[in-house]
Amino acid sequence: VSSTVYNTNSYWLESESGVALIDAQMLRSDAELLATLIASSGKPLKGAVITHAHFDHYGGLNLLREKFGEFPIYTTKKTADGFKPNHEGALNWTPDVHGDDFDKVLVEADQIVESGDVIEIAGISLKIDDIGPGESPNSIVVYQADENILFTGDATFNQGHYYLGEGRSEAVLKQQEYLKANYGDVKMYYAGHGDPSTPAAVLDSQIEYVQFMQSIIKDRLAEGDYMNAENTSVKDDVLETLVGEMLTRYPNLNDYGIGAEKLVGWGVAGVVNELRN
Ligand SMILES: [Zn+2]
Repeated sequence: VSSTVYNTNSYWLESESGVALIDAQMLRSDAELLATLIASSGKPLKGAVITHAHFDHYGGLNLLREKFGEFPIYTTKKTADGFKPNHEGALNWTPDVHGDDFDKVLVEADQIVESGDVIEIAGISLKIDDIGPGESPNSIVVYQADENILFTGDATFNQGHYYLGEGRSEAVLKQQEYLKANYGDVKMYYAGHGDPSTPAAVLDSQIEYVQFMQSIIKDRLAEGDYMNAENTSVKDDVLETLVGEMLTRYPNLNDYGIGAEKLVGWGVAGVVNELRN
């Protein structure tokens, strides 16, 4: 878990012959800590899977390649397509905030797999399932059958605010139903942020969270006069009221070190933009 940015998780699975990695951190310093932990196994890093194209999950790949050589990096085509634009977007602000700790060198996935493929890394089988758009423009989940566990990327956030800043609340709800139908009996979900959880502990509460945000936004949109003068985003006072309603209903959810008001504010602004269209 990164303690510097967004509390992003990486997971590594170890076999006799090596290590398989799920997600690769954002900053070089966090990726270096991760590399140290992987190296302490005394085994080679045989490959990585990236769940989605948000920079906090793949920004550390260049550092890891420097340490471990050219290990393969797996994801689906639609997920891989997001790496470059997302990295370019991050470079607009990361030099000011993180200096050289955010790598300007983009390392992309080089092993494009189809949804449903079962890959093997260090003899560990991982099923890749492309679940389409949602929290990010496109994402996958990774199923490990022997342990009956699922790496969910940012499709689930255990006991945390669900990130809706990109305004795809409807798609997120579809993903939650898909996970229920296809991975409802999985022993444990390992999410991109927050602690592991059972499916039952997370899916229904996330659906409720997203639907509640949608409902208060729809009510406010129906009153009209909610956009700023430039018509570029929701008015500050409207945003503040809606965020207040969210935080009153969900006072104790994890904010991953971002700050709940900021994180929920991104979500409200994103969903206003989605639902007003
Ligand atoms: Zn994330």
